[in-house]
Amino acid sequence: MSNLGLRTIQIDNQYLIWEELEASRKQEIINAPPKVLEDRYSMRKLLLNKPGVFSLDFKNQENRFTAYLVNDTKAQKLFIDGKDQHTVEAEKLNIDRDSAKIAVHGLTYDMGGKGLAKRLTNAGFPTTEEEGIRIQKAFEISHPELMGFKRYLHRATEYESLLFHRKVQLKDKRDKMNWIIQGNCSELIIKALQYLYDYCLDRVRVLPHFHDELVLECLKCKTHSNLPCEPILKIKKELEGLYPFYWPQTKMKVFELGIK
Ligand SMILES: [Zn+2]
Repeated sequence: MSNLGLRTIQIDNQYLIWEELEASRKQEIINAPPKVLEDRYSMRKLLLNKPGVFSLDFKNQENRFTAYLVNDTKAQKLFIDGKDQHTVEAEKLNIDRDSAKIAVHGLTYDMGGKGLAKRLTNAGFPTTEEEGIRIQKAFEISHPELMGFKRYLHRATEYESLLFHRKVQLKDKRDKMNWIIQGNCSELIIKALQYLYDYCLDRVRVLPHFHDELVLECLKCKTHSNLPCEPILKIKKELEGLYPFYWPQTKMKVFELGIK
């Protein structure tokens, strides 16, 4: 892993040293739109291409937390049954799966039908305002628990996070839902990092991580195939065991880690 560092950059499967690039090339990279950056200059891909490096990510983290927190029994059942949430939502909203993903994310927070139409159009799915409003209404009807929770939030002035019991004042009317879900979700990753640094540094190196994904390099095995090794699978289990959240009336954990 000797060439693994922030100064190394991957361009079309070639590894280059940032300092050695010409100024115009650097500028081109800096100015590239995010999608191009993601595809061509991805630090994440660079890390994950190395043998012994695996990513553990919280599957559908925000959607699972929302379903758990607001007690959305239909959404909970999807996760319990192992169904693909976006496909099911797409059918209910009568849109395609990629649009449903954007719609559920936006409408769970404070986006309205008009904002959704704009967001979908910008993402390459041309949508009229009327259609955006139709999707919003269909979403609200099929998620009564979430709507009830958001109404409660409008009046709420204080909130305590579930894992670390942080108490925060809720001042702004907008974005309360966003803060609560993302604030709670951030604690999942903080708890995982705490555990990794306290108990696992003899087994793995913790590499830069991305949003809700942990990137770990196994220190235990000399050779690695693309399949996750036993030490990494064991750490995945240990991390999943950190969280005291179960779907109601089941012994199933709310949060699972995916592995790549
Ligand atoms: Zn290993």
